[in-house]
Amino acid sequence: MMSRNMQETDVLIVGAGLAGLIATRTLAAAGLRVTLLDKGRSVGGRLATRRIGGGVADHGAQFFTVRSPEFAAVVEGWLDAGVVYRWSDGFSDGTRPLDTYDGHPRYATRGGMNALAKHLAAELAASASIRTDNRVTSVLPQAEGWQVVTESSDTYNSRALLLTSPVPQSLALLGAVPLSEEQRRALQQVAYAPCLAGLFVVDGAVSLPEPGALQRPDSPISWIADNQRKGISPGARVITVHASPDVSRQFYDQADDVALAYLREALLPFLETPGSIREAELKRWRYALPTALYPERYLLAGPPYLAFAGDAFGEARIEGAALSGKAAGAALADALKS
Ligand SMILES: Cc1cc2nc3c(=O)[nH]c(=O)nc-3n(C[C@H](O)[C@H](O)[C@H](O)COP(=O)(O)OP(=O)(O)OC[C@H]3O[C@@H](n4cnc5c(N)ncnc54)[C@H](O)[C@@H]3O)c2cc1C
Repeated sequence: MMSRNMQETDVLIVGAGLAGLIATRTLAAAGLRVTLLDKGRSVGGRLATRRIGGGVADHGAQFFTVRSPEFAAVVEGWLDAGVVYRWSDGFSDGTRPLDTYDGHPRYATRGGMNALAKHLAAELAASASIRTDNRVTSVLPQAEGWQVVTESSDTYNSRALLLTSPVPQSLALLGAVPLSEEQRRALQQVAYAPCLAGLFVVDGAVSLPEPGALQRPDSPISWIADNQRKGISPGARVITVHASPDVSRQFYDQADDVALAYLREALLPFLETPGSIREAELKRWRYALPTALYPERYLLAGPPYLAFAGDAFGEARIEGAALSGKAAGAALADALKS
């Protein structure tokens, strides 16, 4: 198919999740032209918030923990901007109150986790080009950079390429792109656990422990949270229920109502009346949480420069995604300026 549009940029980034957004900020601050493409309707990736039944629910990431001074410095800016707030000191398993504090506060985002991504994208509006609804379908190395083509046949020529999509999706995009045997093997070893998320709109009381959520990492249901008590859903009580990796694998390909019935069963003991669930919806996350990570914060290959980043690099979760995006952005800025 003929290309509709041909554009030039210094760095083309695939994936406007947290890693891609923070990498964009770092590269734009270094004076580079950045184009950030995402296949989703909105930025954020796994920072995902959905409207349902007159309310709002986080169905991907639920909160984030700050463990390192480097991430604390990033979060300080978000706190100053009023985007995030300290939600709790941790979560009990629902059988007894939380009696220990590990020293790491848990934060949530006003309006839902996706609002953090929207805030970062808005800050970048003048310094980078961010395009959603743009699925990248092929990337090809050129003599001095990369050619990237999207589903709608737009073509981008860039000096460098940064892939922040989950690693199996990045590898599928690359096809036969030359990486060293060692690099390809290391990337192929990265693995993720899936997660099935149920959203339940409830009329009436739900008896979850303070602060309206419980966490059971080693149980079939790993998380139950009340988005109204969290402060993001004034219009309706919406409960998020996450299945463990094992249960998510077991139900992943089953019909929505079968998976929802399992998640609903886990919620029932916390409801005043079982009939109070008025609406339910299922979300499947194939690549929810990395279980086998690449040991460094990013991988840089080339020239032509090709980098990989995201929550499977160095450290998992939101903190890992943020620090990986920041480090990959800085490494690419150095490489392109040298
Ligand atoms: C159910 C669930 C619960 C979680 N709970 C927590 C939690 O409580 N605390 C915590 O810290 N972390 C949690 N996480 C993990 C956290 O959400 C992630 O670590 C973090 O958001 C990952 O950011 P990222 O930028 O690396 O990847 P992503 O957010 O996955 O971003 C990658 C982006 O790439 C895009 N993409 C993929 N392929 C293409 C393509 N071909 N073309 C264009 N775009 C493409 C995707 O649309 C996506 O937006 C949770 C995740 C899930 C799914």
